[in-house]
Amino acid sequence: DISQAAADTGIPAFLVGGIVRDLFLNHPNDDIDIVVEGNGILFLEHLYQQFGGDIKTHEQFATGTWRHPSGQMIDVTSARLEYYSHPASLPDVEKSTLKEDLYRRDFTINSMALSLNNQYFGRLVDPFNGQNDLRRKRIKVLHNLSFIDDPTRILRAVRFEMRFNFQMDRQTETLVLHSIGRIKDLSRDRLNGQMKRLLNEGSPSKIILRLFELNFWKQLGINEHSQKKSVTHSEKLEDVYRQYEGLQAGWFIYFIIPFYHSDVLYTAKQYAVTKKSKKLIQDIYTLSDNTEWKSISNVGMMHSYLKDISEEAVLFIISSENVHNEKAIMTYLKRRKNMPSLLTGEDLIKQGLTPSPEFKKIIMNLDAAVLNEEIQTKDD
Ligand code: ATP
Repeated sequence: DISQAAADTGIPAFLVGGIVRDLFLNHPNDDIDIVVEGNGILFLEHLYQQFGGDIKTHEQFATGTWRHPSGQMIDVTSARLEYYSHPASLPDVEKSTLKEDLYRRDFTINSMALSLNNQYFGRLVDPFNGQNDLRRKRIKVLHNLSFIDDPTRILRAVRFEMRFNFQMDRQTETLVLHSIGRIKDLSRDRLNGQMKRLLNEGSPSKIILRLFELNFWKQLGINEHSQKKSVTHSEKLEDVYRQYEGLQAGWFIYFIIPFYHSDVLYTAKQYAVTKKSKKLIQDIYTLSDNTEWKSISNVGMMHSYLKDISEEAVLFIISSENVHNEKAIMTYLKRRKNMPSLLTGEDLIKQGLTPSPEFKKIIMNLDAAVLNEEIQTKDD
């Protein structure tokens, strides 16, 4: 359909970016990105009229999305439109607009295009030799100022290293080391966005280590000497999560590990956006302030120390040090998760009792008994 639209409208169209890379790698990818050399809005309107589906356009950027009748989403952007006074040079110019679009991209492997135009259908446009870097498993920038222009590319580079088991070439790594200070210029949201994508990509401990090598953490006020502890901690945390069924680690718990081992966890608060991540930091402080919970083996008793603490925070601490009651703690967390709420203060009031501080004790004792499996709940 895209080829047909290109032929009908006379607007050349190309498949670009990640999907081209992934086609060569035989890697699944559902994000179809098309660049057209011409008016993207006209192109989208033509697709809609000829083939149906649905379109959304942003006139201002001459971009939009076509929802193919099958449900597949297809993003269309316009390569920069340029007007030239010599009509004779038009074919060249058309070629160079796609090239310019590719030149604004991040890495050679992401800067390839496949022609969708009838007579050239399937022809590869690869001005930076991305093919070669795919073969050699290399992440390589297109020019020396790439990371200065956009420091998020540093984190993108690490992400692609992890995902494909590729490596930056030496030049690119040197450029990262030179530009790493620019990480400090990123807004919280951009940094968080990239860290989330990165830490969800592969083994967090490997990512944390790689970011130490690139002097990334230093930019966030972290001491390089915390590297070893941070890596060991994240490895253990990965292990604990593997054993702990039904709980998915969020990226933030790994992100704060280097802060914790640099004694600057409080500075990580500025990156905590969600309630859950704010509470995680708070709970880690609570657990560090009162360490009695680490010496209790009675699962029910543990509840009075840990009942308001998130399981994430507990897992965080037990994977950073040797806690001798680790087994009991894991049992406690598992039972707590499955514990129905038996009684609330309101229930007691409904039974005709007058509110009193005793309520808390009654409820607590009952919960403790359930956690120790001394009494059965209906659910059991
Ligand atoms: P993913 O599979 O994670 O989506 P992707 O390569 O498709 O990987 P996107 O973030 O969807 O990544 O970006 C699509 C394309 O846009 C990239 O392949 C790249 O060509 C370009 N791109 C994305 N972000 C940048 C950036 N910060 N600087 C330059 N080009 C970028």
